[in-house]
Amino acid sequence: PGSEAVDHLDRLNPAQRAAVEHGEGGIAEPLLVIAGAGSGKTDTLAHRVAHLIVKGADPRRILLMTFSRRAAAEMKNRVERIARRVMGEKAATLTEGLTWAGTFHAIGARVLRDYALEIGLDPAFTIHDREDSADLMNLVRHELGLSGADSRFPTKGTCLAIYSRAVNMQADIAPVLARHFPWCAGWAEELKRLFAAYVEAKQAQNVLDYDDLLLWWAQMCAEPSMAAHLGSRFDHILVDEYQDTNRLQAAILLALKPEGRGLTVVGDDAQSIYSFRAAEVRNILDFPRSFPVPARIVTLDRNYRSTDTILDAANRVIGEAAERFTKDLWTERRSHEKPELVSVRDEADQAQFVAASVLAAREEGIALKSQAVLIRAAHHSGPLEVELTRRNIPFVKFGGLKFLDSAHVKDVLAVLRFAENPKDRVAAFRVMQLMPGIGPSAAAAAMGAMAMALDPVLGLQVYRAPARAQEHWPAFVDLFAELRSKRAWPSDLERVRLWYEPHLERRHEDATSRHADLVQLEQIASGYASRERFLTELTLDPPDATSDEAGPPHLDEDYLILSTIHSAKGQEWTKVFILNAVDGCIPSDLAVGTKEEVEEERRLLYVAMTRARDSLHVVTPQRFFVHGQAARGDRHVYASRSRFISADMLDRFARLSWPPPSGEAGGRAPRPDVQVDLKARMRGMWR
Ligand code: ATP
Ligand code: MG
Repeated sequence: PGSEAVDHLDRLNPAQRAAVEHGEGGIAEPLLVIAGAGSGKTDTLAHRVAHLIVKGADPRRILLMTFSRRAAAEMKNRVERIARRVMGEKAATLTEGLTWAGTFHAIGARVLRDYALEIGLDPAFTIHDREDSADLMNLVRHELGLSGADSRFPTKGTCLAIYSRAVNMQADIAPVLARHFPWCAGWAEELKRLFAAYVEAKQAQNVLDYDDLLLWWAQMCAEPSMAAHLGSRFDHILVDEYQDTNRLQAAILLALKPEGRGLTVVGDDAQSIYSFRAAEVRNILDFPRSFPVPARIVTLDRNYRSTDTILDAANRVIGEAAERFTKDLWTERRSHEKPELVSVRDEADQAQFVAASVLAAREEGIALKSQAVLIRAAHHSGPLEVELTRRNIPFVKFGGLKFLDSAHVKDVLAVLRFAENPKDRVAAFRVMQLMPGIGPSAAAAAMGAMAMALDPVLGLQVYRAPARAQEHWPAFVDLFAELRSKRAWPSDLERVRLWYEPHLERRHEDATSRHADLVQLEQIASGYASRERFLTELTLDPPDATSDEAGPPHLDEDYLILSTIHSAKGQEWTKVFILNAVDGCIPSDLAVGTKEEVEEERRLLYVAMTRARDSLHVVTPQRFFVHGQAARGDRHVYASRSRFISADMLDRFARLSWPPPSGEAGGRAPRPDVQVDLKARMRGMWR
């Protein structure tokens, strides 16, 4: 029995084990695990949490921050499995208690609702996603007369990007413009005014945008007594992928545990790929020196994920980085198969190659789910999606446009949000304009009536809708009143759908498939405890089709994964395809402005390559399609192999072109090397 107590840590190597057992029995000094891809960082973190629980830590007092909600759910599963080995059934109940697990943003939303009254926030706030935020920015822009005055004024998307950068970097607008948006530098004064008005609009409407969830939280933590109060609720705080946190996130973390005790962060500086969202790789590098006590540093150098040939190629790519990353990874997984560098003519051939290879691999027993296709940007998968559909290969796409981004789903969510928070102007405008006869000015007038009235329902009732809208208005007011007065979750959502469907049919031709989406949304909703939880979580981190809690149920069991490289972070597959490994794409045309940007693209390729366990295919089309920016437009360009795969590392790859040369020549097979003299034979027949 004595040895059984550590049974669950058996498979760990000594360094991993040291990280897991660090500070055993008490609250430990800060711990940093900094190590390369596939070295078991996330695994070690899961073991550490499980071990803490096994040793009696209260799971409700553990705060676990991951990069996505999916990662948090996976982590909890792993923790349970590990703990189960020594605790049996009890492990399940205990892991249930790990409720403080999620992304920084989701945890932030929860903290802010919890402490709302103490920090002067109305706890009924709703959360704007990026699109809502851009819409509000636009509204404010119009109100200030900034967009009409000069057509060169930055677009709503650019305005939001500038704002977001400044917030997340905690910097003034001038340096942000100079460094990242030089073409907008002339607008500094106007932008400042715009942002001030944007902040006021958010407050007046009781909405928070994504950045607010961190900003408000960080501001709250800037009050030492507040930070201490929140910090005292957790014995352990653990963070995965720490290299991609930004200044606000680091400030929050350090404020919660200024002594550093009970803090564990894990990451890989060679994989930092979010500086375009103001992530600071300095956070992880500075971590050891951020506390009164020095942090314990654990490095791991054995990779358990990839074969030696894949690892070798990946190490070469990162080895040529301008910065030195000192972790040289090794593996015991030997392979005879080098990663492939596949040259194809264009994106259509690329799609064919991938589809054919994926099917062939499935024949060999590699399930679709164990294969992934990685793309630099979400819109790069168009031709492939067409080809997969044509061949009936089911797939799921991560990153980029999601189910929840579609207009009809957003319409329905906006109704719920409006009911939750009637001051939310973006939601209100969206909802009211679903009805014929209501445009922006009518919607504004209705909002005005609501603001005047004691009760928002009353306000809507007294408002006189334009003639064309009158037949629709009472039903809308009824719906709103009902959603406000009694909460019946998740049937609220069905109630909204029934109201919405006539409008849906009028507005969209393909109402049937959209109807199916909405029914699916109801299924997803049934997994959430309340309307507020549903809205918060969905806005922050939309579920994708593979999360067990809320997947579209109509999907086949087995499907191929299509993912942006950014969304593939932390994951692994048996077989991986990297598309468009050409200059202009990796590195992206949009990211070759500064040396740092180019270097980030290199790390991105490194992240992509290190997702592969057994086989890796890097595809380079000779021609590819560029969705240009306004100035240059969409066009085909001739491309060359990504500069990150330099000539002297080509020997690390097996090179092939597709379709194979024989196929290219109209299907002519090589000449047979036998010869027969048929003329003589013919003559001989009559002899
Ligand atoms: P990334 O940097 O990509 O996030 P990581 O360092 O977090 O990678 P993990 O995902 O934790 O690495 O682990 C990579 C793979 O190695 C997983 O399949 C994991 O189960 C396996 N692994 C980790 N440690 C061990 C070990 N000691 N023995 C066997 N397999 C291990
Ligand atoms: Mg990981």
